[in-house]
Amino acid sequence: MRLSRSLIPTLKETPAEAQIVSHRLMLRAGLVRQTASGIYAWLPAGWRVLQNIARIVREEQDAIGAQDMLMPTIQPAELWRTSGRYDAYGPEMLRLKDRHERDLLYGPTNEEMITDIFRQSVKSYRELPQMLYHIQWKFRDEVRPRFGVMRGREFLMKDAYSFDLDYAGAVVSYRRMMLSYMRTFQRLGVKAIPMEAESGPIGGNLSHEFIILAPTGESQVFYDAAFEGMDFSGGNFSHTSETDLDRFFTQMTTPYAATDEKHDPAAWAGVANKREGRGIEVGHIFYFGTKYSDPMGLKVAAPDGTQVSPHMGSYGIGVSRLVGALIEAFHDDAGIKWPDSVAPFKAAILNLKVGDAACDRICEDIYAKFAGHALYDDREDRAGVKFNDADLMGHPWQIVVGPRGAAAGTVELKRRATGEKQELGLDAALARILG
Ligand code: ATP
Ligand code: MG
Repeated sequence: MRLSRSLIPTLKETPAEAQIVSHRLMLRAGLVRQTASGIYAWLPAGWRVLQNIARIVREEQDAIGAQDMLMPTIQPAELWRTSGRYDAYGPEMLRLKDRHERDLLYGPTNEEMITDIFRQSVKSYRELPQMLYHIQWKFRDEVRPRFGVMRGREFLMKDAYSFDLDYAGAVVSYRRMMLSYMRTFQRLGVKAIPMEAESGPIGGNLSHEFIILAPTGESQVFYDAAFEGMDFSGGNFSHTSETDLDRFFTQMTTPYAATDEKHDPAAWAGVANKREGRGIEVGHIFYFGTKYSDPMGLKVAAPDGTQVSPHMGSYGIGVSRLVGALIEAFHDDAGIKWPDSVAPFKAAILNLKVGDAACDRICEDIYAKFAGHALYDDREDRAGVKFNDADLMGHPWQIVVGPRGAAAGTVELKRRATGEKQELGLDAALARILG
C-alpha cells in the first residue's frame, strides 16, 4: 500500500482513554478505532494483522485434522433453552427479538449450535471421532470492557469442538488440540504456558488456560523455567502416534505452572527454576464429557448396538485478544515490534525525498517487488516523521531510500526488532528480506 493513500491514521499524542501500552499503540499506529464501548472497527493495517493471526491458527487446526466451517453469529434462544444455558448465562448474553417476537441472541460461544448440527447427521460410532472449528465474531456484554481489544464486547474467537465415542477418545482429541496450540503460539513468536484451570463439575485435569507472559497481564502466574526452552516445531511430536502424544502431554503437564489462586508454595519447594510473572489468557481448552450431548439428545450407535452420548470438548483461542497480547509482548518506547509471522507488512519503504527522480524510481522498483507486502511511505513529509511512524507501526524491516544512497545504488536497511542498521546494495537488501 501507498501510505499517502491509505487509512492508517497514526497519532502523535497518547490517547487519554487507553490505560495499557497495547491499547495506546493500537490506537496510535492506526490499527483500530472504537465505535462503541468494547466494539472496534479494524482499519486496514489492523485487519491485516488479525487475518495473519487467524491464518496461522487455521493452519495449525487443519494440521491436526480439525474441519474449518462457519456458524452464524445470531442464534435462536430455543437451542440454549434445551441445554439450560439460556437463563443460566446471565447479563453477558446479548438478547434480541426479531419482527415475529422470536427470541434470538448474539452468540457468546457455540456448544449448543454445533451439538445441534452434529446430531442432525451423525448417527454411528463409525463417523467418530470428529473435530470442527470456526473463526467467528462473538459478543459478550462484559461488565467492564477494557484494555482495548483485549477485553472487548465483540471479539474474534477460534472455537473448536471435538466429538468422541468415549472418554479415552476424548483424551486423545484434547492432547492433540494442546499440541496444536503450542505450535500455534510458537509460530506467533510467543511462549504460552498451559495452566491447569478449573474444570467444573466433571473434574480431572482436562482443562487448561494458555497464558502469554507480559508485565501488564491480568493474572499472576508461577511457572518452571523449563517451559521457556521448549520447541514444538518439526516432527518431535508426531500427531499420528498416540505414544508421542502421551509423551508430549506428560512433558507439558509435569513441569510446574500455576496461577495465583492455585499456587501452593509448599508444592514448589523442590522446583529449582521457579519463575514468577504476569500473564494474559489467550486460549482455553476443556473436556466436558456429555454435558451438552445428554440434554440435547445427541446419540450415536456404539459398536455393541447401544445408543450412547458422545464425549465432547471445546477449545477457544482469543484471536483478536492476541493482537493486543502480542503488542504487550513486543514493543519498546518507540512503538510496536511485530514478529515477522503476523506483521501487517513485511517492510516499509521510506522515501526520504519524494520528487527526487532517483529516489522515486528506486522506491517504485522495490515496491513492485514486494507485490503488496510492503508499505510505501510516499508522503511528502520530513524524514523524522517517517522514521517515527515506521517505528510506531512496527514493520519488521525498514528500507530507507535517500538521495545520497540512491545515487550510489544503496539503501539503508533497519531491523526493527534489534535496531540494527546496514548500508546495502539494493539486491542484497531485498535478498535479506525476501530470502
Ligand atoms: P476471561 O476469563 O478472560 O473472561 P473466558 O474464560 O471468559 O476469558 P473463554 O470462554 O474460555 O474465555 O473464551 C476463549 C478465549 O476467548 C479466551 O481464552 C480469551 O482469549 C478470549 N476472550 C474471552 N473473552 C474475551 C473478551 N471479552 N475479549 C476478547 N477476547 C476474549
Ligand atoms: Mg469471560
